Order: sequence, then structure tokens, then C-alpha cells
Amino acid sequence: MRVRRRRMAMALAVMALLVLGIWQAGRLALNHALDQGQGRAETALRLTENALAGYLARYQSVPMLLAELDAVRDLATHPDDPARRRSIDRLLEQRNALLGSSDIYIMRADGLTIAASNHARSDSFVGQVFDYRPYFSDALAGRTARFYGVGTTSGVRGYYFSAPVRDSDGQIAAVIAVKIGLDQVEASWRGGELRIFVTDPDGVLFMASQPDWLYRAIVPMSRDWRARVDPTQRYDDVTIRPLVHQDRQAGDVRLSQITEGGARRDYVAVSRAMPEAGWTVHVLLDTAPLRAQAQLVVALLILGGCVAGSAALILGQRRARTAERLAMQIHATAELERRVEERTADLARMNHRLEQEITERRATEAELRAAQDSLVQVGKLAALGQMSAALSHEINQPLAAARNYADSAAILIERGDSPRARDNIAQIMALLDRISAIGKHLRNAARKPGDRLGPVPLAPLLVETQMIMGVRLAAVGAQLDLDVPDDLPPLLAGPTRLQQVLVNLLGNAADAVEGAPDRRITLTARSDDGAVTITVRDRGPGVAPALAGRIFDPFFTTKGPGAGLGLGLSISANIVRDLGGRISCHDAEPGALFSVRLPVARPDRVAA
Ligand code: ADP
Repeated sequence: MRVRRRRMAMALAVMALLVLGIWQAGRLALNHALDQGQGRAETALRLTENALAGYLARYQSVPMLLAELDAVRDLATHPDDPARRRSIDRLLEQRNALLGSSDIYIMRADGLTIAASNHARSDSFVGQVFDYRPYFSDALAGRTARFYGVGTTSGVRGYYFSAPVRDSDGQIAAVIAVKIGLDQVEASWRGGELRIFVTDPDGVLFMASQPDWLYRAIVPMSRDWRARVDPTQRYDDVTIRPLVHQDRQAGDVRLSQITEGGARRDYVAVSRAMPEAGWTVHVLLDTAPLRAQAQLVVALLILGGCVAGSAALILGQRRARTAERLAMQIHATAELERRVEERTADLARMNHRLEQEITERRATEAELRAAQDSLVQVGKLAALGQMSAALSHEINQPLAAARNYADSAAILIERGDSPRARDNIAQIMALLDRISAIGKHLRNAARKPGDRLGPVPLAPLLVETQMIMGVRLAAVGAQLDLDVPDDLPPLLAGPTRLQQVLVNLLGNAADAVEGAPDRRITLTARSDDGAVTITVRDRGPGVAPALAGRIFDPFFTTKGPGAGLGLGLSISANIVRDLGGRISCHDAEPGALFSVRLPVARPDRVAA
């Protein structure tokens, strides 16, 4: 509240100061303008005065010169001679035209005009008496004289110069006068912004740039005043009215307020007396334009102040806005940095978690691989178990048969039936050959699974596989058909591992056809695009689409407990992948079709 009141007081003080400043500036501007106006008026006054003085000086000595002329003096000697008068009339007319004056005329000693330049005009001066004019009496007294007034005969205003004319005896016998008009000079004052006028010693305007100001008095028109003015009949019968005015001083400048037709006007007034002419010249300059000029200066000042104030305000606002923007930018930058830091911390946390997860996943993978390895081993053991069972069956049968043949051979030899005994021995040999074939196969099966990759011709491998699978296929009554072209290129594989895959696929096919009406199993091999595709097709129940995606998973089995471990396809898939090939399962309608695609060995390696 107090702050607000203080602010109000401050604003009021500033306003008051501003108003005071503007008022003072206005005063100064007006004074300056008035001073300038006075200067201009004074210059005009000087010029006017010079022009007037020059104009009068041109005629000043004219009467004196004319009075010296013999003809004129002759007329003064014989003033009543009509011939002389006429001749002088003409002379004066000529000179008047030559000099450009208004009238030239000669008066006798009693004031009667005897000759005049305007002798031919109806309002001729000839015969008129001018003894009341001061210029006549002065000249008659022997002085050159001057006078200004309104002509009593012509009613025309003029300036008069006069000189005495002496007769042949040297006595003053006449007066010669030259009247000059003032209208021309006065006309040159009109049209400007200045008011110019001339007053006589009685304060009457005798010449004026404003026609209606003429013959008006700027002094109080008292009775004394009238008594003083009248005898010379300077203004003939012109009515003199006052010119209402009021003078006052503004510094060095004199101001004159003139009331005209109800309107008041202020003028800067300057005047100077012209003693030789007997009058005072006045110049007035209207103050309205000067005041307007001062007002314009003040208006410009106010405008300038407003512009400067607005500029200061705008600048201030802009500065404030810039500061605000800067502050906002700083805040935004800080916020951004904070967010970046937060995000960086989040990312670091996530990275850390990811690293942990990766480590965990690696560990899990390693564990899985270990588990898989051990399962592979288990699978191998299971296969070994199956194989041992098959093997004991395969070996025990021929061994029992061989024993029987040997027993019979011993009896036959005792009987001396050597040919039949030899037959028996040949049978025993055949059985031994079979056992050695099985041994050979076992050697192959026992070979390290990590066998190196090399070209493997499929046909011999299939012969071995058939032998291995022979008992199992026979047990379910399956029939294996081979469709392998003779020119099939060797595969790039490990023979033991490839055989293991084939054994697995054929074993599954044998399981699938068990009890089925059609127990044919077809193994096909085809080469194309640098690879060989081996397919094993059975005509059993096939793989249900819902299970197709899972059969390659470890431990996935549909067989009853003890019948299957669910490892065969998983191990096979791993082996095929290790060999750089692909394994897939398809629906064969009826039955299932497993296809293994492996790369063909390069020819150079075949040669090797
Ligand atoms: P196992 O034979 O011990 O069950 P496998 O991995 O060899 O394990 O086979 C997984 C499963 O795939 C089998 O349980 C069976 O359901 C299915 N399967 C494999 N081969 C065939 C086939 N030829 N016909 C139908 N189903 C098959």
C-alpha cells in the first residue's frame, strides 16, 4: 500500500516536472520566436526607411533648382503677365512629366497660385490660395521647406517640397512647390506579412500598408490635439478615427495588440523616427505565425519526448523479455541436462541389467549345452543298449547255429561222412563271416562322433545302415525301398554322424509303420544346386500339424514310457546343423516325410 502511494507520488512529481518543463520550453521557444520576429521586423523597418528616404531625397532639391530658372524668376518679377504664366504652365507641365512628380506649381507672395503643371485640368491649382500651408510660409520666409498632407484641391495625399523664388531684384516674390505622390511607395508595402505605416508627429497614420488604417490616430484624440492638428489643414476634411491598440513589453520585444472589427491581433512592433521627413515609420509583424512556430517546437519536443519515452519503454521491455527468455533458456537447459542425466542413469541401469541377463543366459546356455551333451551321451547309451540287444540276438543265433553245425560235423566225421561234415563246416564258415560283418559294423558305429568332415558316398553308407536296421525293420515287418541314383555325388559329412541320423529316421519310420496296413518305407536321394536331399518317407499315421513344431525339441515324444526318449530327432537336428545342412518334417498323406539336405563335397576333395 505504502509502495503504491509512493509510486503515485513519484508519478505525480514526474508529471508536474514534465508539465513545468514543457511550459518553460514553450516560453523559451516563444521568446526566441519573438526575438527572431523582432529581428525580421527591424530589418524590414530599415529597408522601408531607406527606401522612403531615398524616394524623398530624389525630389528634395527639385524646387530649388526650378526656382533658379530665369523663366521662373521672370514670372516672379511679372506675376500677372498672362503670356509668361502660360509659358511657365507648359514648362512646369513638361518638368512634372519628366520628374514623375504629382504636381509642380508657383504661388505669388500672397499665396495665389499663378502657374501649375496641372493648369489644363479642371481641378487645376491655378487661382487657388495656399497661404495657410506651412511649406508656403516657410519658403516665403526664405527657407526651403517640406510638408506632407492631403491636397485641399485635389484631395490627393502627397509630400510637398517648396523653395522661395526671387525676382530680378533678388527679393522673394514667389514660392515654387513640388508635390509627390506616396501611393506607389505605399503599394510596395502591401501583400507581405508585415504591416507598415508612417505616423506624423500627431500620431496620425499618414501612410499604411492596410488601406483602412489610413488617417487613424494611435494617440488619444483630445481636444488639444485637434486644436494642434487643424490649422495646417494637413488632412483637409478627412475624418480621423482612432486605431485601437494596446502596447506592452515582452522582454526586449514590444508587442502591440490591435483591435480590428472585434478581432484582436498581437504584433511585434518596431518603429523609428525620420526627423528629416518629420514622421515615424512603424513596422508590425503578426505574432500568430511566431506563436505557431513556438507551439510547433513545443509539439515537436513533446513528440520527441514521447518517442524517446516509448523507445526507452520498448527497450526496457525488450531487455526484460530477453532476460526472461535467457532465464527460461537456462532453466530449459538445466531441465534437459537433468533429463539426460536421468536417462543416462536409466540406460546405465538397463545396460547393467542386460549384462547380467546376458551373463545369466550364457550360464544357462552353457548348462543347457552340458545337459544336451550329457543327454546325447544318454541317447548314445540307449542306442548302445538297443544295439547290444540286437547284437546279442544277431551273434547268439549264428553262434548257436554254428555250435549245432559243429556238433553235427563231429558226429559226421566219427561216422566217416566227410562230405556232409565238410558241408557243415562250410555253413559254420558262412555263419562266422556274418558275425565278422557285424563286428565290422560295430567298429564303424564305435568310431568317435567327432569324425572329420569329408566326402561320403551315400550308397556304401546305406548298405551299412541297412544291416544295422535289418533286425528292427524285420521285427515290424517293414519293407525298405531305396531310390538312390548311381551318379549321386558324395556328400560333405562325417560318415558316423550321418549314419546315426539315418538310423534315427529309419527307426522312427519303423515305429510309425508298425501295425500299419502299408509298411513300405522309401529312402530317396537327389542332388541339385550343390546339395543332396535325402528323404525318408513312411506310410504310417504321420505327424499331426499341431506337433510338427515340437518334434525336434529334446525329450519330446509321443511314445509310451520306456518306448522312446524323445531324443532321436533332437540329436539328429543337432548333427545335421553341425554338418552344415538342414532337416525338416513334412506331411506326406499318408505318413510322414523327413528330409535332410546336406552340401555336396567339392570334386577335388572327392579325388582325395
Ligand atoms: P522318440 O522316437 O524316442 O519318441 P524322436 O525324437 O525320434 O524320439 O521322435 C520324437 C517324436 O516325433 C516321436 O515321439 C513321434 O511322435 C514323432 N515322430 C518321429 N518320426 C515320426 C514318423 N516317421 N511318423 C510319425 N511320427 C513321428
